[in-house]
Amino acid sequence: MKPREIVIATRNLGKLRELQHLTRSLPVEFRSLADFPQTTEAEETGNSFMANAVAKGVHYSLETGRWTLADDSGLEVDALGGEPGLYSARFAGEPRSDDANNAKLIQLLQNTPPEKRTARFRCAVALVDGRHTLATAEGVIEGVIVDEPRGDNGFGYDPHFWVPEHNMTTAEMKPEVKNRVSHRGRALAAIIPEIERLVSQS
Ligand code: IMP
Repeated sequence: MKPREIVIATRNLGKLRELQHLTRSLPVEFRSLADFPQTTEAEETGNSFMANAVAKGVHYSLETGRWTLADDSGLEVDALGGEPGLYSARFAGEPRSDDANNAKLIQLLQNTPPEKRTARFRCAVALVDGRHTLATAEGVIEGVIVDEPRGDNGFGYDPHFWVPEHNMTTAEMKPEVKNRVSHRGRALAAIIPEIERLVSQS
């Protein structure tokens, strides 16, 4: 069987590696946006992670002419009313900087005690064919925001996101562990059987 090509709608190498690893069992060839240098940037103007994932998927599916798997994700901190949420990547403004975002987060939480620092990473994924959404899924990982950064793996808010069950931050997790338990890992684990079903039907 000729493998179907699916575009993974990311230029972020960390994410691409996570996605490729998680989808390695599928009879599908994955391409990243690096294989489609002519594509334009998708706008993220939706009012939910899922709306953004679907919009991103439609944008790149129309531009590449292929099924596209798109995701959108972010950090929700309860003491900040769910912020940075949809603005996670540009929390401290432009140009986007993980260090500046983390500094702003820790500064805003300076008077918040540990037991009120609950937070979660949330991820929405969508498989899109043109303007048609074929499948969607969501994943969440719960944690607590800690002042002192710990660990060198991962990206973004990982050094400050401590996961009680693992007694470590997501930046301290080995990539294969983070892939399994992360919001993105869980969202992908939920959508992979759907992709398998869709690919075997087509
Ligand atoms: P995106 O829009 O899905 O690329 O992600 C938005 C932002 O959320 C990223 O730039 C990070 O700041 C944050 N984020 C999403 N997933 C993670 C993660 O797994 N670890 C740390 N930060 C993350």
